Amino acid sequence: MTLMDYGARQKRLAASLSAHGLDALLVTHLPNVRYLTGFTGSAGVLVAAARPVFTTDGRYRQQAAEQVERARVVVGKGPAMASAIEVLRKGRYRRIGIEAEHLTVAMSKVVAYELGRHGTLVETTGLVESLRQVKDAEEIRLLRQAVDLGSRLLPVLLKALKPGATEVSAAARLEFAARERGAEAMSFETIVAAGPRSALPHGVASQARLPRRGFVVLDYGVILNGYCSDMTRTVCSGRATSEQRRVYAAVLESQLAAIASVAPGRSAGEVDEAARAVLREAGLDRQFLHSTGHGVGLEIHELPRVAARQKDLLQPGMVITIEPGVYFGGKYGVRIEDMVLVTERGSEVLTRAPKELLEL
Ligand code: ZN
Ligand code: ZN
Repeated sequence: MTLMDYGARQKRLAASLSAHGLDALLVTHLPNVRYLTGFTGSAGVLVAAARPVFTTDGRYRQQAAEQVERARVVVGKGPAMASAIEVLRKGRYRRIGIEAEHLTVAMSKVVAYELGRHGTLVETTGLVESLRQVKDAEEIRLLRQAVDLGSRLLPVLLKALKPGATEVSAAARLEFAARERGAEAMSFETIVAAGPRSALPHGVASQARLPRRGFVVLDYGVILNGYCSDMTRTVCSGRATSEQRRVYAAVLESQLAAIASVAPGRSAGEVDEAARAVLREAGLDRQFLHSTGHGVGLEIHELPRVAARQKDLLQPGMVITIEPGVYFGGKYGVRIEDMVLVTERGSEVLTRAPKELLEL
């Protein structure tokens, strides 16, 4: 039993399919299959059409029966895709969408060959993903829970940050505590990047040891009930220099300015620019090496992209990260990241953890 409204989601997809002149969509990306049916296994295909059909193999017979909603379930003798092709052959669809970002070239050739004259494949991108960017009430509830768990784990990680400890040992403490408290997995490889490694925007925890002095970038997330969290804090081992303080203050100001700019009707590009403008003023914009944020949900990186010149307008129900950072290669880096819900009136910061510079 679930509170997810799969019927409403499939209805929105059906409208999108007809707008694109498609009779069916072969949904192969598992997070999309989950979003539309509730199936959480590792092998399943959804033929989204007027009469949706979900196919899987024998390993998932019971799980599919328990989980899949709003689709007829077919458990074939062969792989899920073979059964899906059978469904397509019998379905008399003319234009069949495939998810071009997810189906391999090799598999799309197999599907086209097997279909023969029983339908034409049409490459599509982001049909389900664009629906997924606006979260419904149940998704927002689950995202809040994931974000809360992430926030509550920060003290555990901070406690593990002792000079001389390795980055991976600190990450291990965090990840153990996350699992103990119900996380299914981490959202991505935990980043604990200390000293000069803090200048790596993606410094996955290594065998490097925490120095007595210097910044440590902590970027991690948990998956709880399928939904991801994502947060970054930068702390300082020992006392920060005055230059490091200035940089930290600028990144924090940039992050707060971007959050303040979040509102329905604003473009994602405007939010990115709000972050960038503060760093430009501080002479640090050329050290800001990535975009300001991204959507989060069933996957860690979803739409919308909060990046320069992105015209997509923010809508209530979107959940995005705001994560400006400044990096001086070989020296140090600072990044601060929260998850933010776009509301009817503006925004709500979901992440609950202090952001003042913490010196350990
Ligand atoms: Zn992150
Ligand atoms: Zn992020």
